[in-house]
Formats: sequence, structure tokens, C-alpha cells
Amino acid sequence: MTTKNHLPSVDRLLLQLASSIEQHGRQHLTACTRAELAAAREGVKCGLPLPEETALLAAITRRATESSRPNLRAVFNLTGTVLHTNLGRAQLSEEAIALMVEAARSPCALEYDLASGGRGDRDDLVSPLLAEIVGAGSADIAATIVNNNAAAVLLTLNALAQGKEAVVSRGELVEIGGAFRIPDVMRRAQVKLVEIGTTNRTHAKDYEEAIGAKTALLMKIHTSNYAVTGFTKAVEETEIARIAHAAGLPFVIDLGSGTLANFAAWGLPAEPTPQQALAAGADLVTFSGDKLLGGPQAGLIVGRKDLIARIKKNPLKRALRVGKTTLAALEATLRLYRDPDRLTERLPTLRLLTRPVADIEAAAQRLAPKVQAALGEFARVSAEPCASQIGSGALPVERLPSAALVMRVNAKRPGKALLQLEAAFRALPRGVIGYVKNDAYHLDLRCLEAGDEARFTAQLAGLCLTP
Ligand SMILES: *Cc1c(COP(=O)(O)O)cnc(C)c1O
Repeated sequence: MTTKNHLPSVDRLLLQLASSIEQHGRQHLTACTRAELAAAREGVKCGLPLPEETALLAAITRRATESSRPNLRAVFNLTGTVLHTNLGRAQLSEEAIALMVEAARSPCALEYDLASGGRGDRDDLVSPLLAEIVGAGSADIAATIVNNNAAAVLLTLNALAQGKEAVVSRGELVEIGGAFRIPDVMRRAQVKLVEIGTTNRTHAKDYEEAIGAKTALLMKIHTSNYAVTGFTKAVEETEIARIAHAAGLPFVIDLGSGTLANFAAWGLPAEPTPQQALAAGADLVTFSGDKLLGGPQAGLIVGRKDLIARIKKNPLKRALRVGKTTLAALEATLRLYRDPDRLTERLPTLRLLTRPVADIEAAAQRLAPKVQAALGEFARVSAEPCASQIGSGALPVERLPSAALVMRVNAKRPGKALLQLEAAFRALPRGVIGYVKNDAYHLDLRCLEAGDEARFTAQLAGLCLTP
């Protein structure tokens, strides 16, 4: 027991925590017990009373339970940005999840040729599928897969242009998410960047005049997270390809997002595809697996077989290669593209992007009274139109009409109350992430699908708000 001026011993507390030991393990629970006792001792030093033994026991179990929650937790992405980099970008299809689980659980033929019994190549798991989808089955198209698109660009540049020059328009020297800037990547790849043209205008002759004895390739980078408008000129891809090929050089395009499907077919803004880039004469394209493609984090390099072979021989390829679960998810995702008619149903990214606005509005009407009931006097909730964005640098200026739950707090200076509201939603068992705009907290419901609504509403009672 806790005597007047003594805390109980670790052993004494542990004796009473048998079921928690079972759940969390003796070592971890001992550490939690020591930590709680230390905290209690600190408290006493600061003049707090000695805690009751029951309170200590409860605090130990609480500490153990909290520290056992996964750090990588599922959340509701109600930010209105469908492909949110900080929230993990694309949600995978059920098909991808199933194949990943199988690859994780069992030995699998990752680099093993089941037909011959000999060594296989992990890129062969997806390379023929990519040739089929992107290259219309051309035997001259191959692919190699690395950790992400940043790695794809780094590897391509290093393999094809180390110690030489790459020519890029000044209008395309992009920075993506702070840490990825084309000039920095060039330097790390040991390639000399030759900038041509100006921020707003680049002409064919700029490319022609930049080519010299040290030029290794011409490169185009899709300006995926900004738009230059007004008095602009970029050179057509077919034209850059012609100039490159006349000089015997490869033409590489970093597409960034690179969807494999025709977005216009679903009324979405058009995004350049690898198919179009290769058809326009590009020799290689690079793009992300977890942006509009809707698959796992990966970087895909697709194009001319001889260039892919050179890239695969580069030692960086080994350092940047992906594992079996990634390849499983990528293979299953790519297979879905064989049946474009069902893509919007099976691929969550496309399903969310093409979700009818009437559907989202109906959800907002359904949910507004439930959220209002949970918030009481704290805030007024209404269902209102809003605009979602695609995210991850895809189609930066396009917006998709959507609907949101909008909460306005009953406070003279709303700033602090809004922070409290945001924090309360984040602290729910499955954290809810929204955004503040015009002094109101918004939950864009585009990414709350009907199947998840019950889970969303069930936890609302746990919202912890003090007026
Ligand atoms: C997103 C993007 C990248 C980086 O891709 P990651 O898969 O995030 O590494 C590179 N280039 C462009 C043009 C992009 O849009």
C-alpha cells in the first residue's frame, strides 16, 4: 500500500498487474511502472500529494496501452486533398492489398524463374505489364522500379549522364516538397545541368544551341505543382525528341504523376500519360507509383530496352530497388489498368476523384446533425460546398467541386477555439484531419466513403471539448 510518505515498490505494483503483463510483456510493463513512479516522485518534490496505489496502477496501464498504439495510425483524410503526401498518398485497391499480404506472409518467386528454376529478375514481375499498358505491347519497351520517382530521376541521370551534361528548360527547374529540387538532384547524380531559355519561354533553337560534345541527354520535367501562364512558350515533346534524336541523344521526361488512364474519359482534367510521352518520341519516362497511378510508393522508369538495361547495371539501382510487398502492390495495381471500365470502381484514388458531388452533398446532409449533436454549443455545423484538389503535385490549378461540414465556433476570437476543435478531431481513435479556412473548420467529405461513415460517427461521442 501507499503509506503516508512512501511510494509502493515496483515489485508490489507488478504483482497486481498480471493481466497487463500478459498483454504488454513484463519488460515493457516494468519500464512503464518505473516511469510512473519517477513521475510521482517528481510530483511529490513539487508539493503534490502521494498518489493512491489504485491511481498509480491505472496510470501504469494507461501508459502501457498508449505506448502500444501503433505510431503509424490510420486517419480520416478530410483535408480535401485526395493524394495527400503527409497522409500517405494513394490508398491501395483491395487487389493490391491482397497480393501484398500474400507476398508478406509466404516465400514468393521474387527473383526466381519458376519455369526454369533459375534466377529471375524482380523487374520482370511488372516490366511486361508496363510494356503492355504503356508501350502497346512493344517488345522494345522495358521498365525498372525503384523506391520513388525522386530515385527514378536520380538513377536515370546518373546512369545515362554521369560526368556529362543534361539540357533542361529554365521553366521546368521544379522543386517538389522542399527536398527535391532538380538542380540539386542533378548535382547529386554528378550531372552538369545546362539551363536553357527563360522562366516563361523556351524555343527549339535553345535546345539545338545547347547541344555540344558533352551533352548526354535532353530532359523535360513536368511542372506538376505550378503553372506558368501568360506569355509562355514551351517546345512540343515531338520537337524536342526530333532535336535529341538528330544529335543521337536520348530524350527523357520526368512526368511526376503519370497516370496510365485517360482522365478526360471521366470528366477529369487531362494529365499527360507515359503512353503519350513515349508516342511523342521520349526514350524514357519516369513517374511515381503512389500519385495518380494509385499504387504503392515507387518510382517507375519505362522506355527503351537498351537504356533500361544500362540503368539496371548501375550500382545505384541496387541501392534504390524496392521490396516484394511494393512489387506485389504495384503488379496488382497495374493489372487493374487492363480493364479501364472498372477502374473507377476498383482503384480508390480514381473512385475518390470521380465521386459524384451529389453523393458527397448527401453525406454532408446526413452527417451535419450528428456532428452538431456531438459539438453541442461549441460550434455551429453546416453542410456547404467546397473544392477538393488532387494533390501530390498533380494538376495544381484544377479543383473538384465537393461538399464539407463547416464548423463555426461561438467565440469572439475564434482562433483558439478553432485550434481546440482541430486538436479534438485529431485526438479521436481514428484521427480526423480537416482544415481551417475563413475562420471555420472544414471537413471535406470527398474521402469519407459510405462504408466508413459509421466508424466516423461512432467515435464522435469521444470528442473532448471544453467551452
Ligand atoms: C512528385 C514528383 C517527383 C517526386 O516523386 P516522388 O515519388 O515523390 O519521389 C519528381 N518529379 C515530379 C515532376 C513530381 O511531380
